Amino acid sequence: MNQKSLRASVALGALVLCGLLFLPHCTYSENAPFQLNLNKLYGKNNMVDVAVIGSGPAGSAAALYAAQDNLHVIVFEGMEPGGLLTKTSYVENYPGAGKILGPDLVQKIKEDAQRSGAIYVPDYVSAVDLSQWPFVISLDDGTTINALSLILATGAVPYKLKVPGEEEFWGSGVSSCAVCDGRFFEDLDVVVVGGGDSACEEAMQLARAKVRTVTILVRGVKMRASDAMQERLKGYPTIHVRYNVEVKEIIGADSQVREVKLFNNKDNSYELMPTRGVFLAIGHQPNTQLIKGQITLDEKGYVITKGRSQHTSVPGVYACGDVEDSVYRQAIVAAGSGARAGLDVRAWLTDGGFTPQIAAQFEAFYYAKNNEAKSQIASIDTESFASQVLQATTPVIVDFYGPNCPTCDQQAIILTALASQYADKVRIVKVDISASSELAQKWKINKIPTVLVFNKGSLVARYSTLASKNDIQEVIATIIS
Ligand code: NDP
Repeated sequence: MNQKSLRASVALGALVLCGLLFLPHCTYSENAPFQLNLNKLYGKNNMVDVAVIGSGPAGSAAALYAAQDNLHVIVFEGMEPGGLLTKTSYVENYPGAGKILGPDLVQKIKEDAQRSGAIYVPDYVSAVDLSQWPFVISLDDGTTINALSLILATGAVPYKLKVPGEEEFWGSGVSSCAVCDGRFFEDLDVVVVGGGDSACEEAMQLARAKVRTVTILVRGVKMRASDAMQERLKGYPTIHVRYNVEVKEIIGADSQVREVKLFNNKDNSYELMPTRGVFLAIGHQPNTQLIKGQITLDEKGYVITKGRSQHTSVPGVYACGDVEDSVYRQAIVAAGSGARAGLDVRAWLTDGGFTPQIAAQFEAFYYAKNNEAKSQIASIDTESFASQVLQATTPVIVDFYGPNCPTCDQQAIILTALASQYADKVRIVKVDISASSELAQKWKINKIPTVLVFNKGSLVARYSTLASKNDIQEVIATIIS
């Protein structure tokens, strides 16, 4: 009997017993006695006791709790290590943390999880198969992981407006991350679309990045943002708010936004408003692509968890954080749900008979890649660029990054992994554009991260969005073949 049918029988048995005995509070618990079919683990490689997908507060809190039970916990960091909190400025409502920058808070929770024993890897999960146990997780480099349990903490991504011009100017005037891109709009007029707390956060971030003016475009008659957040806006004289306006088109030329076409839904008029940047803050969509069709979702696409637990519709699979929470969407709530997922998974494995003694038998077969080695990427500046890059005899990959740029952190993780893989063949260096603005100008860096690949002093490839492991591996292959 496989695990699913065994569990179904246990569930049915429990329900029948409840019915026969008429016990008022007797419900089938996910933690009711059952036995995992541990025989299925023999012969498997790349085993993981608890695979966590996502590394925001939810994923890291889940990893922290699961690893405390000496389980082998791997956190797949995903496309945006640290999640959305890395894009916020100060967080002032995480109990015990005081006033802290979002990226710092995420880092602290990650370090706690690592101290607990969790291992963070920069690999991308490209597919998950929950129809068999152990669950099969495929990575983008072709590796297959056999996971005894899975915690989904994949968060949610910002919605787009879906208006003409949005895709065309994405990355060159349209953005959903003021922390990442605000610095490119110094002394320019920009707009923020949305009326929630995120819109306020984005606007304040842009004002601090010294844009000339920020106009928040709200489609309704009032903002949805909290009173406290709206009060904070008053401390920024360059921020203005306009109501009853909807963006219908983003217009520009030469890779530059020039204006937005606005519809005034009060008097049905249109106008063209000059602007150089459009920052979107109109809510989020849960990241459920990996498990769509395999797990029960609600009508908005969020994962449904059972009662006061983080169990999903598939035994052994848990969800926590914004991927299952469309209501609170707070770091502390995400971390709390992560803690529950960690505890739930511990109970599920233990109840299923997965003891430390059994785990010890599989020690040699665990996926234990640890990419936490310190960055081997050297920093270079304007003076050393010629000797280190242009006159180099081996290929050189240059990572242009800046402070407070979460995507840059992700790029660094990818490049660090590649640095060890190609240690003898390719050199990888990085340039902080905030300290080397002349270099950034010379090489036309108007977005970070940007990765340039040089061979024998010539530029052979440019990536102005996040360069994946595959992208870089492909270009290296053509150079060194
Ligand atoms: P919200 O869902 O709260 O707000 C989205 C906003 O975008 C609404 O004003 C909505 O308008 C508007 N909107 C949606 N679609 C469009 C569109 N097509 N055109 C124009 N406007 C549109 O999302 P947030 O990301 O702001 O916040 C999510 C959650 O995270 C909230 O609970 C918030 O409190 C929390 N948060 C907390 C922060 C903090 O405490 N530091 C920071 C950021 C977020 P309408 O109102 O008309 O529907």
